[in-house]
Amino acid sequence: MPRHIAIIGAGISGLAAARSFQNSGFAVTVFEKSRGLGGRMSTRRMGDVSFDHGAQYFTVRSPRFRQIVDQWQAQGYAEKWFDEAFVGTPGMSAPAQFMARPICVLNSFRVTAIERLAGGWSLRAENGPVQCEGSGQFCAVIFAIPAPQIADVAGSHLLDCDLTHVQYSPCWALMLAFEKFPLLQDGHLKPDDELISWIASNGSKPGRHHKPETIVVHATPAWSRANFELTPEQATKTMLERLHQLTKFTESPSVSIAHRWRFALVEQALSQPCVWTGSQGLGACGDWCLGPRIEAAFDSGEALAAAACRALDTKAKD
Ligand SMILES: Cc1cc2nc3c(=O)[nH]c(=O)nc-3n(C[C@H](O)[C@H](O)[C@H](O)COP(=O)(O)OP(=O)(O)OC[C@H]3O[C@@H](n4cnc5c(N)ncnc54)[C@H](O)[C@@H]3O)c2cc1C
Repeated sequence: MPRHIAIIGAGISGLAAARSFQNSGFAVTVFEKSRGLGGRMSTRRMGDVSFDHGAQYFTVRSPRFRQIVDQWQAQGYAEKWFDEAFVGTPGMSAPAQFMARPICVLNSFRVTAIERLAGGWSLRAENGPVQCEGSGQFCAVIFAIPAPQIADVAGSHLLDCDLTHVQYSPCWALMLAFEKFPLLQDGHLKPDDELISWIASNGSKPGRHHKPETIVVHATPAWSRANFELTPEQATKTMLERLHQLTKFTESPSVSIAHRWRFALVEQALSQPCVWTGSQGLGACGDWCLGPRIEAAFDSGEALAAAACRALDTKAKD
């Protein structure tokens, strides 16, 4: 059996798992459908402006994650924003880019199916079977993607776990650029409002440009769910009107783009660190295991790699 692991998803959980597998002597290939890294911990660039349109900051609870964030800070990939809130620098995706450096990540690679062959697992992407070094087969496949998307790729290959009660809330995110915007204390505002839950000045985060002023607005889970089928133009119009009402600031933005996150924040987690189905060589990790946080996604990725490495090494000795 090849000692080569396929990881689907280059968000923070997939990259944490990839680093741990690689440090334990496994070859790893990460398949990522988008052109970037970091998944929901991402930075969207448009010409001269950029926005953290997904996760806004991260907190640190465990000594292990503190150790990791210390490394990111020491290397210049993260800094404190306010209180105990940290951000990636110069953008939210920076820690993911740092973590991905020693890893083989194949971008623009949407995995659509997996297949069990005599020598191990093989993967299928939108444009055909995945060609990889060596046999092109993997001893294990790791799903580091939101739980509701796993079944579409896994097909009839079952994980030893019921994922149906895992739930996410959606989020409409609006990215805006203005010549000038009212000062927000600590760079953000959490209005008590039915439509808007979060307004952040991207430029107030360390390492960002201040001109033009870039603002990220998130809609509440309830509004995002009820208005999920709006077009981006409709969402932009309604959210901008509400922003004007809330801030009494009526200038028109020079840039306005809405992004819809289908799986934004975990509402109902699995409440276990990860899923490892040793009999199949299939595993899954992500924020949906432990909770709606970057740290939870990181912990889940490391927990999965630890469980899988132990099992695969024992199997190899048998
Ligand atoms: C609007 C919003 C606000 C948030 N705010 C915060 C916050 O303030 N603080 C905080 O800690 N957390 C926040 N979060 C949550 C945080 O971003 C997530 O918990 C964390 O980033 C999840 O990481 P992950 O690796 O589990 O999943 P993801 O980041 O979703 O990574 C999954 C990756 O898999 C890829 N993928 C999916 N399907 C396939 C496929 N078939 N083939 C190949 N690749 C695939 C995706 O493109 C993605 O890159 C927020 C999230 C959103 C969306």
